[in-house]
Amino acid sequence: MEDNNEIIVYRLGASCDLGDVEEGKTYAGRVQGFATFGTFVQLNERVKGLVHKSNVKTEHKERETVLVHVRAIRSNGNIDLEEVVIPVYQVRAIEKKSTAVLLAELGKKIGRTVRIEGEIAQVKQTSGPTIFTIVDESGTENAAAFVEAGVRAYPEAELGDLVRIVGEVMQRNNQLQIEVDSLSVLTGPDAQDARDRIDKALDLRSEPADIPLLVPSPVLEKLRPEMRKIAKIIRRAVFTSQPIILRHHADADGICSAVAIEQAVTALLRESGGDFDSDYYLFKRAPSKAPFYEIEDITRDLDFSLKDHARFGQKMPLILLTDNGSTEEDLPAYRMAQVYDLSIAVIDHHHPDAIVDQFLIGHVNPYHVGGDFGITAGMLGTEVARLINPSVEPNIRHIPAIAGVGDRSEAPERALFLDLVRESYSEDECKNIALALDYEQFWLRFNDGRELVKDILNLTNNPERHKKLIARLVEGANLMIEDQMNASMPHVKERQLKNGALLFLLDVEIHAHKFTFPPPGKTSGEVHDRLCRQHVGSPVVTIGFGPDFAVLRSRGVMMNIPRMVRELRDELKGGGISGGGHLVVGSIKFVEGMRNEVLEALVEKISNDSTGT
Ligand code: MN
Repeated sequence: MEDNNEIIVYRLGASCDLGDVEEGKTYAGRVQGFATFGTFVQLNERVKGLVHKSNVKTEHKERETVLVHVRAIRSNGNIDLEEVVIPVYQVRAIEKKSTAVLLAELGKKIGRTVRIEGEIAQVKQTSGPTIFTIVDESGTENAAAFVEAGVRAYPEAELGDLVRIVGEVMQRNNQLQIEVDSLSVLTGPDAQDARDRIDKALDLRSEPADIPLLVPSPVLEKLRPEMRKIAKIIRRAVFTSQPIILRHHADADGICSAVAIEQAVTALLRESGGDFDSDYYLFKRAPSKAPFYEIEDITRDLDFSLKDHARFGQKMPLILLTDNGSTEEDLPAYRMAQVYDLSIAVIDHHHPDAIVDQFLIGHVNPYHVGGDFGITAGMLGTEVARLINPSVEPNIRHIPAIAGVGDRSEAPERALFLDLVRESYSEDECKNIALALDYEQFWLRFNDGRELVKDILNLTNNPERHKKLIARLVEGANLMIEDQMNASMPHVKERQLKNGALLFLLDVEIHAHKFTFPPPGKTSGEVHDRLCRQHVGSPVVTIGFGPDFAVLRSRGVMMNIPRMVRELRDELKGGGISGGGHLVVGSIKFVEGMRNEVLEALVEKISNDSTGT
């Protein structure tokens, strides 16, 4: 037997209707009137049932409270009740949950008072009201609560809490806002119910569109599940007002991958409510100078995020890395991120080290499915961007072709992506855009140049300006490259390796202009390209070196730069060796005093590698 104290009697809230009544439950009702066949009992103003005279237990007057058990709800809506007599019981109020207005519907409720339920995604104190950003299953809107100018309203309500707000829907500067009359923090089962409901709906809403790839590609096809996973994580961040920081390698391919995603995310932010400038403060794109996520990068990202969290009540960000992030060199930054429980997702085509995956919530990498770096980050980023927001596809279809030529992809996908846009962009135009991106990024340094880069990639509906800009940048870049080559090429030293490869060495520290365009990596690349054209058919390796670094490129020699770096680190004590990159394009750092030893050991390793085409 149940203890009497545990018997629960429900009281139907004023807004409830028949749908909130359950068979088998006991309700506190009120006698409405009498008929020959029984007693009518109201469960609230809108819902009433009948206690048949055979089920009446006690005598009543009109408007008296009576406890009734719901025997049945008939298909015509009639409710059969039975009177029950319970000496001791608990009353639990039932509120109608579905009367909360969805945030996406607020536009139709301007001037009216509504009730909403959702999670606090940001709490910003202004010099006037406190602004709560609320997220529900349908969208995001702001609610303004005012007690006194500059004073925090409802201090008990914190980031992440589930709240119920009653207030009037207003429109200010084209933006919806709720003026809060009352705000209550949900607790216990109410909070859990709301959280479950919102979570479930957000999960569905975040599910990416089921669309085919831009081009037929077995490797991309195999990467679809992981691309969908990352797209879903990003969509959810957008829908829950979680800031996103997108870090990318500062070259044409890296920029392409990041800008494709930027287009998808900023459009989705604008579509899904919230502040008019949310596409700026909830999304930041930043180039990484090193070909990995450096301590310097995570330090800046943490610095800004923690300040935004403290000052503007923002959530901590989702970190997304593109054309970066899949190698051992990223670990120190990942360990820093771990201290703050930051979520990190990676879209990369560098040869991955398995150790990074324990730090990541998603990792798209062609090497995981038998592909290689020929599937460039810009190709991957564009496919993910389409999954995030298919509506941006017409704007970004040309981006993978630019990324492919920018990163010198030799995968079959390069030609497929070029074919896709051949009518609007020739291969040469794609090369020019890639060069313009590299050149402009040099001048941008650590800045993302969001709007300028959009013009370079022809994303601003101003093709004339795009063309002029590309022409200027390409002209500037080529002049500087020519200048650099005129200075460098005469100083290249040639060696014949025992495996038949030709090795070319250039000291970029003394035989190239410093701190200018092209920087050492690109200078070596240009030198390498020219030497390859001069020695058609021969395996060629080019090393451009400075006092404490070397940049390597190979054609026709099966190198594995990340592995060579690891071996040298073990073999040359006191070399201070680090580095990595792709298998046949990469860089290595060392201490200046060990330069000759490191270079000789490196050359020895290369001369043992097999050659072929
Ligand atoms: Mn790349």
